[in-house]
Amino acid sequence: MVLATHAFAGGILAAAITANPAVAFGIGVISHFLLDAIPHWDYFDKLKSARVNNDNYLDNDMVVGKYFLHDLSIIALDCLIGVVALAVIILFRTHLFWPALLGMIGGILPDLFHFLYYKIRREPFTSIEKFHHFIHAKDRGVASIPGIAFQFAILVVIALAVM
Ligand SMILES: [Zn+2]
Repeated sequence: MVLATHAFAGGILAAAITANPAVAFGIGVISHFLLDAIPHWDYFDKLKSARVNNDNYLDNDMVVGKYFLHDLSIIALDCLIGVVALAVIILFRTHLFWPALLGMIGGILPDLFHFLYYKIRREPFTSIEKFHHFIHAKDRGVASIPGIAFQFAILVVIALAVM
């Protein structure tokens, strides 16, 4: 899913479940993989620096070239949307700050490992990439707008359920 979804869901779930920052981090990581297992839209294959091999995902890459900073800013903006949404929710619940922050980092971190695999292509990153691919929904046929609306709906449901 997009990073806004992962950041927000990881933070909000962790803050709702635990006050322990380490446990919160773990909940964030687990939430990432559970959300990825749901068929969803994402934009990685639409980035100009993305190299996607549909026959072998282990060949995928993100090229550090002339489009890299442009694409990185899209990813950063995506991330920022989740961070701001999470901050708004926990603004008046300051005791939730650390679990929300660690849960959010745990929610985002697994996608950083795609990039680490692309650039290093060695263990343990290869195994992590294989696990990520294994758990990730293979159905990418969800159209863009319903896809984003669907992820937004998931966030609203999570927020209402845990707050
Ligand atoms: Zn992921």
